[in-house]
This record gives sequence, C-alpha cells and structure tokens, in this order.
Amino acid sequence: MFFFDPLYFVIALPGLLLTLWAQWRVNSTYNKFTQVRNARGMTGVEAADILIRQAGLQGAVDVQGTPGKLSDHYDPGKRTLFLSPEVARGASVAAVGITAHELGHAMQHAQNFGPLNFRMAIVPIVNLGSSLGYIVFFLGFCLATQAQGSSLLMWLGILLLSGTALFSLVTLPVEFDASNRAMKMLEQSGLLVPQELQGARSVLSAAAWTYVAAAASTLLNLLYYVMLANRASRR
Ligand SMILES: [Zn+2]
Repeated sequence: MFFFDPLYFVIALPGLLLTLWAQWRVNSTYNKFTQVRNARGMTGVEAADILIRQAGLQGAVDVQGTPGKLSDHYDPGKRTLFLSPEVARGASVAAVGITAHELGHAMQHAQNFGPLNFRMAIVPIVNLGSSLGYIVFFLGFCLATQAQGSSLLMWLGILLLSGTALFSLVTLPVEFDASNRAMKMLEQSGLLVPQELQGARSVLSAAAWTYVAAAASTLLNLLYYVMLANRASRR
C-alpha cells in the first residue's frame, strides 16, 4: 500500500532524526541561556532600541510583541521585529542574541540582501506549488498504471513541489547571514561581554541547525517523490 510505503520511512528517517536532534538542541540551548542574565541587565526590547539606532534604522523598523516561545521573527511586510515575551522582557543572553538576529533580517531587508529578496519573491509561487504539487503528483501516480502521459503529470507535480525545497535551501544563507550580522552588531555595540557573546553564538548556531534539518527533510521528501515517479514510469 502506497501510504505505508516502507521506502518512505527509510528515506525520511535521517531528516526526521536530524529535525528531532536540532529541536532538542535549540530548546536546551535556549533554556540554558534564557536563564543566564546578561551583565548589563538589557532586555530584548532595550537591546533592539540601541541596535536599531546604531544600525541607522530608527523609524524604519518597528518592534512589537508576539505570543509564544521562540516565536521571534522579522516580518518584512510590516518592517517589524516581533519578539516573544521571554525575549522582549527578559534580560538574558539569549534574549539579546535573538533580538540581534531578528534585527539582522531587518538589515538584510533594508540593504536589499539578494537571498532575502529572492526568498520573498518566490513565496507566492512556493505556496501555490506546494498545495497543487501533491494533487498533480498523486493524480499522475494513480493514473500511472492506466494512462499514457501520467508520468509527465508526476514530474510536473515534482517540479511544483521543488519550490518548497528551493525555499528551504535559500533560507540557509538568509539565516546564516542574519546570525553573522547579529554577532558583528553585538561585538561592536558592547551590549554583551565576551563570555556572553559565546552564549549568544551557541543559541544562534543551535537555531541555524533547525533550518539545516528542515532543508534536509524537504530535499529527502522530494527525493522520495522522484524515486516513486521513476518506479512508476518504469512499470
Ligand atoms: Zn532568522
């Protein structure tokens, strides 16, 4: 039966394990450094205020709260840093590190950083492709034994689904660059002392692994569909 295909688990397992490991790592690193108070007693909101001014982005970037844990993000449409309660109001090493990372995205946006622009541009296509791709693929797959040209449908489905993989791949340089910018900002601003910088770096690199895991999972998922299409078209 297709839905219980053991091949899927064999292919998807490494991605799943990597994802679970990355989730565990980001949670444990975050939990550790969210309890380490920074020497200046600086909250995320206060750090954002100083770093935005130092980056020359005052008036160009807004800061708002958002519910949840590790839900911090930069919204390019609203040009706003959304900080979670623990980051916004906490005076921890993690709070300042994450705030600087989100501001890194705002700087990318303000400076027209290529990979970010590219990622923003493909979002509508990726969304359409990911919902339509499965339908087209499964239609091709179900017709594979009866109709000519059904493998073409499967490959079209894969092409539509590949947008998601492209999105997860282009996310990597966007995220790595935001963390690099964050570390530079934090070093230059002196908001964190050297030992705290190390802690902030640990949090950001743990977060980066979740994007690596997501990209690996997406690519493995796509590989599975390619193998199915191959198998079906040989029948
Ligand atoms: Zn980010």
